[in-house]
Amino acid sequence: MKVYKFGGASVKNADGARNLRSIVSDEEELFVIVSAMGKTTNALERVFEGIQKGDKALSDENIAMLRKYHAEIIDDLYHEHHTIAAVDALFDELESLAATSEYRSEDAELWYDRIVSFGELVSTLIISDYLNHSGVENKWIDMRQCIRTQQRHKDASVELEESKPLLREAVKSAKERVFIGQGFIGGAPDGTTTTLGREGSDYSAAVVAYILDAESMAVWKDVDGVLNADPKIFPDAQHIAELSYLDAIELAYSGAQIIHPKTIKPLQNKNIPLYVRPFGDKRKPGTVIRGSSARVNIPILILKGGQVLLNIRPRDFSFVLEERFAEIFALLAQFRIKSHLVHNSAVNLSLCIDSSWHIDEAVKSLRAEGFDVMQIEDMELLTIRGYTKELFDKYALGSEVYVRQATQSTLRIVRKR
Ligand code: ASP
Ligand code: MG
Repeated sequence: MKVYKFGGASVKNADGARNLRSIVSDEEELFVIVSAMGKTTNALERVFEGIQKGDKALSDENIAMLRKYHAEIIDDLYHEHHTIAAVDALFDELESLAATSEYRSEDAELWYDRIVSFGELVSTLIISDYLNHSGVENKWIDMRQCIRTQQRHKDASVELEESKPLLREAVKSAKERVFIGQGFIGGAPDGTTTTLGREGSDYSAAVVAYILDAESMAVWKDVDGVLNADPKIFPDAQHIAELSYLDAIELAYSGAQIIHPKTIKPLQNKNIPLYVRPFGDKRKPGTVIRGSSARVNIPILILKGGQVLLNIRPRDFSFVLEERFAEIFALLAQFRIKSHLVHNSAVNLSLCIDSSWHIDEAVKSLRAEGFDVMQIEDMELLTIRGYTKELFDKYALGSEVYVRQATQSTLRIVRKR
């Protein structure tokens, strides 16, 4: 068994779906994980926002847009007007959820998952229907029933051992040898839908590869494999042919958009190689990530946008290091805030975190606990592994740099965007 994962960009239109077909039709035994099409998850986040803020027009407008967007893809695939009943039913359900008055702010994460999970349900129904229609016999798998997660919404981890019998049974009992399942979503012990965190489909695919003892996993992307920098930002980016699991985790943690950071562990546990391949050209080799691999010997540059810098200082000057440090992190964890960079001095702790709707609440709590907090928006985190003097001079200096951290090999900078 192999596992293939197709991200939103690779199935953003009918050409993408046709291309997926041409890639999967070469395979005999395959589990295909598909993300929501194009920018669907972003639009669903706006549907959720409409529910959260009581702005019905915002929800309705985005649902209508998504209905139309998917209907157009379906029509294009079938070369005529065509409907898939299960897709229509999902949009009806989404509309009625958005019209409900049951939303409670204590359950924001639960509602978030309920809403954003529609993207993957819709995309997989379309892909599965189209493949069956065009001669690639396959079975649609409801991952909410097969991937058991923690009882935690918006950013759940998968319970591997509990998911194992569920997914294996679904595969074993089928006559088909090609399976189509949703990335990003799962089911909690209480039966509600959970999601694994934005861009979590890679992680879903790795979990499937682990459980089914796959020979390999491939992520099909709109790039030629892993590069040492994002070519949209750094024009002279170079291709990396091979990467170790360890390097891949480091890069993902620093914000490289290659794979979701949780993806590597399940693969590493079973030594399953991960291929990052360009969906535009299946003859190109892409990048392979595996246990043993030569160390990358060119600098790697990663820019992570959407960051906020928090400067935290105890009002009484008691300082931070000892127990107050633990207090701060415990409080941030409650609000699901993870730090990408930590920097401290005698009376100050600086944290670089993702911008999110939880920050304001967290800052409020920190202030209530006796800390002064300065919140600086519109930041970005630049990580350069294997930096040179030239790269240091080019990026680490200048008035917009708020924090600079350098080890022997790695330079990290928080600066204004
Ligand atoms: N559709 C989800 C997202 O956009 C999951 C994924 O694409 O991996 O975040
Ligand atoms: Mg995506």
